[in-house]
Amino acid sequence: MKRYLMTPGPTPVSPETQLAMAQPILHHRSPQFMDILAKVREDLKYLFQTEQEVLMFAATGTGAMEGAVSNTLSPGDTALVVDGGKFGERWAELCEVYGISIERLKVEWGHAVKPEEVAQRLKANPAIKAVFVQANETSTAVQHPVKELAQITKSLPGTILVVDAISALGGYPLPMDEWGMDIVVAGSQKAMMLPPGLAFAALSPKAWEFVKTSKCPKYYFDFAKQLKSQQKNQTAYTSAVTLTMGLQQVLSWIRAEGLDKIFAHNRRLSRAAKAAVRAMGLELYSKDNPSDVLTAVEAPAGVDGQKVVAELRKRGIWIAGGQAQAKGKIFRIAHMGFIDELDLLGTLGALEIVLNDLGYKVELGIGVKAAQEILGKEA
Ligand code: PLP
Repeated sequence: MKRYLMTPGPTPVSPETQLAMAQPILHHRSPQFMDILAKVREDLKYLFQTEQEVLMFAATGTGAMEGAVSNTLSPGDTALVVDGGKFGERWAELCEVYGISIERLKVEWGHAVKPEEVAQRLKANPAIKAVFVQANETSTAVQHPVKELAQITKSLPGTILVVDAISALGGYPLPMDEWGMDIVVAGSQKAMMLPPGLAFAALSPKAWEFVKTSKCPKYYFDFAKQLKSQQKNQTAYTSAVTLTMGLQQVLSWIRAEGLDKIFAHNRRLSRAAKAAVRAMGLELYSKDNPSDVLTAVEAPAGVDGQKVVAELRKRGIWIAGGQAQAKGKIFRIAHMGFIDELDLLGTLGALEIVLNDLGYKVELGIGVKAAQEILGKEA
């Protein structure tokens, strides 16, 4: 059976990238590998839209999230955490582990944080040294307004904005330098179209100043140590050479295509997916700023979202269910990276079959048609 990976991480990897990763292993201190790292370092700057070095770690995205906390803050510091989903909660958990005192800005799941609330909290407590947020909160498929948040933190010399863009970077526009985000964290297995295993973090000059005074313990995820190594086209410890070869291939491809074209592709698929589920009589779970890289759908009354996921799996299609409080209530379909319109149309067609099987009557083809109309118009 063919497998269609329509989950918001991991996502499919192209045959060209797979071939790049089928090459013999290079030694990580060899000149050949250092050449690869030199190229990758430049192309990562293009992807992050920054002039700063983009740090690379053999880890999943959470590793870089942990490093963002442990390299910039000290025990006893205060941070504001935007908590509007599973990954917002992760920022809070990480801060707590490092003895950071947190102010939690709770956002109802399915909604985006209001920039004015962040501004108010920062005004009320000038001791807040960092604001932690997701660009794309994958558990709710909501995009937080990080551009507006950066406008606020930019004028505060003692506060940095730390953005988890693990499911966002490469998926839709997030120009780090132009918007003034201080730390952007990413992971390989989503819109970057690679297998899981690489984590990235880029820091603004302001964030690098915070690194100088940070007293949290750190060893593997020591950003200053990694920066020094990367400036010599090395990594501090053994590089994930195979993944880095894949990274080189994918970044060259992204650069050749151009970010704008990739963002437009994802947006077009997103509009088609959202039109399709609405035509099926379903509602989006994301009430504010629905994501360009995945669509979260409320399961219809009487239908368990996890069953939708399980039934689609029997047909070879892997989508994601809800997490934590959304478990059973929603299902999520990704449309980022190496996912194309056939993958999406097939998934939507199968979804109609599965919903009927589960007792929610939907006219076969109605959602697919709505998607086709968008794809036809925006071809
Ligand atoms: N943050 C967001 C927004 C995510 O979507 C994910 C993964 O789904 C993570 C963090 C965690 O990333 P990882 O599983 O790569 O550690």
